[in-house]
Amino acid sequence: MVNPNLKVHDIYTKNIKVNDIERVSWTRLRLTAHSLAVEKGRWNRLGRGRLPMEERLCPCGLVQTEAHAIESCPLSLHLRNMYNITTVGELFARIEYNNVCAIIHKILAIYD
Ligand SMILES: [Zn+2]
Repeated sequence: MVNPNLKVHDIYTKNIKVNDIERVSWTRLRLTAHSLAVEKGRWNRLGRGRLPMEERLCPCGLVQTEAHAIESCPLSLHLRNMYNITTVGELFARIEYNNVCAIIHKILAIYD
């Protein structure tokens, strides 16, 4: 969904000015190395092993996937409205990389 062609992004090969902390958040989302429930549920070891997908919940009560956090969660609604975000694909297709990294950093911070 985030990188369907599995290409190395220009941000890693060209001299693009991006805040490093925000770029790390962006990379974490691309690699699914974030703390959203959809991933944390994969390595939940609280005596239950992996959580079933339907138990990987957001505080809003729905399954917390990357798409949920970016596209539909009420907790990130203010950021969607502020930055006119429609879909994950649309957000990652934007060429203002520094803005995209900052937006993703702010979205992931909601759920940390
Ligand atoms: Zn939610």
